Amino acid sequence: MEDPNSAETYAKIKSLAELLSSTPRKRAIAFTGAGISASAGINEQEFPEHFETTTAPLPTNQFALEQAIPTQAHMSLAKLADEGYLSYVATCNIDGLHRRSGVQPARLGELYGNVFLETCPKCRAEYLRDYDVAMHRNRAALAELADVHATGRQCTTPGCDGMLRDTLVRNEETLAEPVITRALQEALQAEVVFCLGSNLESSPFCELPVAAKERGAQLIIVGPERTMLDGVADVRLRMSPDRFAEMLMKSLGKAIPKFALRKPIWIGNTHEMVTPEKGFDTENRHKWTVFVRGDNNSPLNFIDRVEFRLAPSFDPALIVLEEPPFELTRVGRGPFEVLITIHLTHNFRRGSLTFRHMLLFQDIGEQKCVQIDLTGV
Ligand SMILES: [Zn+2]
Repeated sequence: MEDPNSAETYAKIKSLAELLSSTPRKRAIAFTGAGISASAGINEQEFPEHFETTTAPLPTNQFALEQAIPTQAHMSLAKLADEGYLSYVATCNIDGLHRRSGVQPARLGELYGNVFLETCPKCRAEYLRDYDVAMHRNRAALAELADVHATGRQCTTPGCDGMLRDTLVRNEETLAEPVITRALQEALQAEVVFCLGSNLESSPFCELPVAAKERGAQLIIVGPERTMLDGVADVRLRMSPDRFAEMLMKSLGKAIPKFALRKPIWIGNTHEMVTPEKGFDTENRHKWTVFVRGDNNSPLNFIDRVEFRLAPSFDPALIVLEEPPFELTRVGRGPFEVLITIHLTHNFRRGSLTFRHMLLFQDIGEQKCVQIDLTGV
């Protein structure tokens, strides 16, 4: 193993930082394997269940996969891609962590698919879920489908009724043509190729850095495991991808961004004046609706239930809604404050958040956007 504190390691990483910063900028790409996700608690070898269609119980690893957050190496690559130091990242991991870390889909090749992604074969819409789409299939709908990739969910694009499919490449299947073609193109154009956390044994993945090397690219291999290409690497660093990323980013004078998963929601109310009824004191009475809604109608599947606590004059004053729409309509006088408690049920975060909302009966009502940080820190 490389000693990260040695002067030699430091010098190698400093020269890589200079290489990345050179003007004009070199075309650099990265290939990643299982080793980049190991520190996220993921063992990429333990996913045979993704390639079955049976209702097998969830393995313990499943829990780690949905809860896993991107590592320092993932976050560093995302930052470098975002700032144009890396033009492309390809991975043979199916854990979706590169996409989760923020690498733009246009710069990303998930060669074997992404367990969180399902796509519509008709209109090409992509649905990136918080849950593993291969494990959470709609089995009732699947009974009529012979397609092993079908997830049993339907496309929600207006006018499209396509049946969604997972993106995973099964053992006996070949890689999707556009994905592998793009990866090869990127390899052939690259001047610098980083290979992180892969033993570079599985074909055709291992052929990509070879193709790049043969075209004159500099090959940098990072990871503690021995690889098939160690003999031809220009720089070989036998250290963890995380430690390498930390040292490289430091050498570049850049901070590694912190991972955060935020979901915007809208909290607010609408209202309308109630027509006065003869013989009743109906002055300033309104029919109002207080709500918690997803941004742009996105599903609120990270909310378990919502409690609305009204003024004590209402009976009952505490109303709990256990499924969407999280909207409550009443008639009364205002303004008064409603306490809204949102109970979260996300993999990353449970617990509750309470908001105070003042019911206002002016204009169309009152609403505000709130960012829920599901990473919970
Ligand atoms: Zn569709």
